[in-house]
Amino acid sequence: MKVLVINSGSSSIKYQLIETEDENCLASGLIERVSLPVGIISHKKHGELSHKEEAPVKDHQAGLDMMLKLLLHEKHGVIRSYREIDAIGHRVVHGGEKFTHSVKIDDKVMEALESSTYLAPLHNPANILGIKAARHLLPDIPNIAVFDTAFHQTMPKVAYVYALPYEFYEKRGIRKYGFHGTSHQYVSLKAAETLDIPYDKICAITCHLGNGCSIAAVKDGKSVDTSLGYGTMCGLVMGTRAGDIDPAIIVSMVEELKLTPSEIKNILYKQSGLLGLSGVSSDMRDIEKEEEKNNERAKIALDIFADRVRKYIGAYAVTLGKVDAIVFTAGIGENGWEIRERICRGLEAIGAHLDIEKNKIRGKLAVVSKDESPVKILSIPTNEEMMIAKETVKILSEE
Ligand code: ADP
Repeated sequence: MKVLVINSGSSSIKYQLIETEDENCLASGLIERVSLPVGIISHKKHGELSHKEEAPVKDHQAGLDMMLKLLLHEKHGVIRSYREIDAIGHRVVHGGEKFTHSVKIDDKVMEALESSTYLAPLHNPANILGIKAARHLLPDIPNIAVFDTAFHQTMPKVAYVYALPYEFYEKRGIRKYGFHGTSHQYVSLKAAETLDIPYDKICAITCHLGNGCSIAAVKDGKSVDTSLGYGTMCGLVMGTRAGDIDPAIIVSMVEELKLTPSEIKNILYKQSGLLGLSGVSSDMRDIEKEEEKNNERAKIALDIFADRVRKYIGAYAVTLGKVDAIVFTAGIGENGWEIRERICRGLEAIGAHLDIEKNKIRGKLAVVSKDESPVKILSIPTNEEMMIAKETVKILSEE
């Protein structure tokens, strides 16, 4: 099947046309600066950049229209007719408690999506715009929504309820939802395949370390805990987000420092994490370069980043009881062998022995633990688009 995967953000649209039989990405692209005076369109055919232009992209519908023209283009295109597209898979950030699985989109699903936008006010409205535009432009092609939160809907109550007054959960849906679900699911599947363990038997700790970071405990192929929560601020140290902090700090920001809600939001979302600690950058590579120049704050930023990941791995090892694999993925996790080495120092305590030489790889699927290590350590490049395409095929085949 040919599945068009769309990841529609507030000012950008990412797309991939995937032949799911052989997991081949036929074409992909990025449309940036949607709704701004000048947009940027980059389109790849079979992995090679084939077209780049700057032009206004009025709205999401105009963006998708441009994408379709490129997919059909004589020189840049990979299909001859829209009808070759069998289905469209959309990334949707938040599915709330309602969507525990991917779902075929109809008017009822649209209504439910619109009514849950308050849970992800930055992301869901943009995802919905992409879905609406696709339904309008290609009315005959089925659309499937694949949620970042759905993989974590198997968490038990003990993992997802906060110790707040219970009404916060019951009346307002304030609970842990978790994110990066398609990535955690994809690398869990790949780890099971690589280690030759049936998927419904694998117990893994998956570390998605990119600009946003989260870690998940996966027991018998199902998420049982994860470090992101109601929103996307807690857990691990991220590029510009602090991860876990004592809520008393926020009270003090309000009462002592007299900061406004938007100032606090800005500090917690944009000025903390690796950026706030290092004072240099939110980008791992920049901080590693600074550490080489003996920048003390860069060193402490890397130490704190690694320490937090290691602590979560230890905690999730106990949650799982048995760990087959620790998986590193996303920009930092799959490329940064230096930080993987730092994180793994001390993990021998739970039976995970890194092979220092094997670990020196970037962007490749590999087992990087010692042969005799009871817990395997893997680097696995994530592929959220492929997971969305697989889910799309699965939902259609269940009809
Ligand atoms: P996003 O969450 O925006 O999708 P990515 O998964 O692309 O982010 O991850 C971005 C992070 O990956 C940045 O901190 C970047 O420095 C880091 N990264 C990319 N390549 C490397 C590398 N070779 N070594 C270390 N970190 C890397």
